[in-house]
Amino acid sequence: MPLPPLIGHLAARKRLSQAIRRGKLPQVLLLTGPAGVGKQRLALWLAQLAMCEEPSDEPCGGCRACRLVAGLGHPDVHWYVPIPRPKAGDPDKQVDEAGQCIAQVMNERRDQPLYPAVDGMSTHSLASVRLLQREAALTAVEGGRRVFILGEADRLIAQEASQEAANALLKLLEEPPAGSLFVLTTVEPRRLLATMRSRAVPVRLSRLSDAEVSGFLKAQVKPTLSSRDLEQRVARAEGSIGMALWNGDDAGKAQQAAEQWLDAVLAGHGPAFERALKQPAWGARGEFTAMLDAVAETLAEAARGSVGQPVRRSVPRSLLRQDRTGSLMKALDYVADAREAAWGNVNPQILLAVLGEELAWVL
Ligand SMILES: [Zn+2]
Repeated sequence: MPLPPLIGHLAARKRLSQAIRRGKLPQVLLLTGPAGVGKQRLALWLAQLAMCEEPSDEPCGGCRACRLVAGLGHPDVHWYVPIPRPKAGDPDKQVDEAGQCIAQVMNERRDQPLYPAVDGMSTHSLASVRLLQREAALTAVEGGRRVFILGEADRLIAQEASQEAANALLKLLEEPPAGSLFVLTTVEPRRLLATMRSRAVPVRLSRLSDAEVSGFLKAQVKPTLSSRDLEQRVARAEGSIGMALWNGDDAGKAQQAAEQWLDAVLAGHGPAFERALKQPAWGARGEFTAMLDAVAETLAEAARGSVGQPVRRSVPRSLLRQDRTGSLMKALDYVADAREAAWGNVNPQILLAVLGEELAWVL
């Protein structure tokens, strides 16, 4: 099954298609914006446009190249998604394992184009970076451009990916091979290595309108949603198709846990610490990382609100004061550090207790 159509983001699309037409498309792009608004879908749209045999402002959709990209089968479009850490001991075997795992994910997405959110523990490990390096060193199969999409690029583990791998990736981004295009995506550019961020031209995507989300759900979700279900999903989505599609219970639970924890943090050091210790033993690590992500999103939303931008998710009122922006940014840095540590072998309760202390100081 081909990918569902790209919804919205008309200004970004126009800007990108003009850049292609003028031969001015930067070779390294960073698409940023809230989770589930279609950053990776836009990257694939751009791959289609770059490959299309009869391009105009939009990919034609009908030519061989367009159809191959839409079916996730173009040999020169490489889509790197976060995957579970490879288990093989030998580094070369790890690279093979990463390649097989990514191929498997692509198969699943071909079968189910409305795919679920990536598990919180999946990352771009050293093996994925080596795979990217290996593929980038080859020439184009079809003789044209090559596109490398690095989805959720902030999941590149800096610590684990060793200096060598980080440097290899940076070198690729600094001097991309001729005819290649790198598109990185992230919810939060501040979570990216600064050196990576500085090499990419940013394109910011905003939340979609409720009408766009609703139109997408009506056209794509089978069986058709009842009007009550549709309404609830659109309200919950906050302008994100992904949020509308992903398991509402899980997202809601993570958001609720994040809100409770932030309330405790805002009440001071004692309550924050108590709350961390009371935290039930986390059965699945995914729940813990989902909560940290929800904390980061709430703080980022508060930071936007504190500089006068509209706020679309529930944020503790005390965080919205104007003088809060600096401390919110500092808090986001702490959460990003904790998020990275959570991928390693750290006790979640201790991590949460330390993070609570840090946040209670800055907020
Ligand atoms: Zn085409």
